[in-house]
Amino acid sequence: MSPRPEGTAIRADDLPFDNSFAELPPAFYTRLMPTPLPAPYFVAASAKAAALAGLAPAALKQDDFVAVFSGNQVPPRAQPLSAVYSGHQFGHWAGQLGDGRAILLGQLNGPEGPMELQLKGAGMTPYSRMGDGRAVLRSSIREFLCSEAMAALGIPTTRALMLTGSPQQVVRETIESAAVVTRMAPSFVRFGSFEHWHYRGRQDELRTLADYVIREFYPELQSAENPYLALLLEVTRRTARMIAHWQAVGFMHGVMNTDNMSILGITLDYGPFGFMEAFDVDHICNHTDEGGRYSYSNQVPVGHWNCYALANALLPLIEDKEAAEAALDGYIDAYGDCFDALVQAKLGLKTTQEGDRALYDAMFKLMHENRVDFTLFFRRLGELRMDVLDSDRNEADAPLRDLFLDRPGFDAWAVDYRARLRREHSQDDARRLAMHQVNPKYILRNYLAQTAIEKAQNGDFSEVAKLLAILERPFDEQPENEAYAALPPDWASHLEVSCSS
Ligand code: AMP
Ligand code: MG
Repeated sequence: MSPRPEGTAIRADDLPFDNSFAELPPAFYTRLMPTPLPAPYFVAASAKAAALAGLAPAALKQDDFVAVFSGNQVPPRAQPLSAVYSGHQFGHWAGQLGDGRAILLGQLNGPEGPMELQLKGAGMTPYSRMGDGRAVLRSSIREFLCSEAMAALGIPTTRALMLTGSPQQVVRETIESAAVVTRMAPSFVRFGSFEHWHYRGRQDELRTLADYVIREFYPELQSAENPYLALLLEVTRRTARMIAHWQAVGFMHGVMNTDNMSILGITLDYGPFGFMEAFDVDHICNHTDEGGRYSYSNQVPVGHWNCYALANALLPLIEDKEAAEAALDGYIDAYGDCFDALVQAKLGLKTTQEGDRALYDAMFKLMHENRVDFTLFFRRLGELRMDVLDSDRNEADAPLRDLFLDRPGFDAWAVDYRARLRREHSQDDARRLAMHQVNPKYILRNYLAQTAIEKAQNGDFSEVAKLLAILERPFDEQPENEAYAALPPDWASHLEVSCSS
């Protein structure tokens, strides 16, 4: 279950890659080599991700691993390839896309099963379209940190093993330097991988892909009466649950196109994502998303829409429209059940009682109207004491209450909340402990990422490592890192993130 002990780490050249995706027919990908980068250097690595790949974290800093994970050296057993897929972007059919800058090296066996390793930013591919095949250090740091932060929050996600950089210049809105993130997931197959074959009327390939996904990643579905229907049902459920987790922690993906939706129901492709700070249900984290298609509140129906797109692609295999529609209906319940359970836990409630829905709705409404910091609110709610003399209440509640402009509004809600706690004989200490297990203290606020990025752009990667260490323990009190839990400074209100990565 543990990575190889230090000292016995294998050399990068001996990495025992397999590649189940490469066993698919050639139409599914293009075999190609990464394009080397000049003078690659180590930026950061995740020890937890390394363990999942069966790798010793200390080895990753060595030159041989830096060479492999920047795409400069390809281990003999790797079978590098870029996959083809299509997708709906912002609601419109976009046709063929594909790994425009991602190259799969293969899979390594870890304690939880095979993990695919993919280099993002490793050079042009036949699917690069107008792109340069590169990723910049700025967005790569964001993807690296967020992948690991999400995992630590218990949210299904691709992982980030390693981050390397290069002085090579890359042109975006400004000139930036290149980087490569080594991403990991059991599979990078997307909804758009299925849409690709469906829209081309290529049913044989569609079936080959579905059979592959079921065999490798959903073997328990092989015995279902209609495995393709069972696949749709399960992916729909997983997607709904993933989005419930996003909503409960205030995560916004930013580009929920069908080519960014994982067939495993894990968060995939970190671009202009954001964590909710001042709560606004209509918040748009991607400033190029002018219509707000992927705003916080729209993530829920868009997740459902994306499942429709998947169902449409799978329909020739499912051959039963009514059953497919019924499977899609499962999204609503799966989302609602998961979100309600998460909110219940966030409020420290152990039972479900009449009136809970109204209590939750009133809370979110008040948070929205007062633009209350999402993370601070729930964390401080855990500190609220149930039995406080009326005369002491304002002072006792101050840390939480002061987040609201509408103090009477908060006070009225707190009366209801306390009454609700009493109805289940809640105990303050036990409740605080339980709430702190589910309401993170530390999230990847934009300004924290920005600070780490600016230091890294000046050659100092210590802040990336420090943020990773903090975000790996998001629920723990870390008194020495109290400043990282603070509200964003004024300068941060001007930060904008876009698709340009
Ligand atoms: P995204 O919106 O980041 O998921 O990207 C959509 C499509 O554009 C995917 O097929 C990407 O591989 C491709 N793409 C994004 N950026 C680049 C780039 N710099 N070079 C080549 N392809 C890219
Ligand atoms: Mg993408």
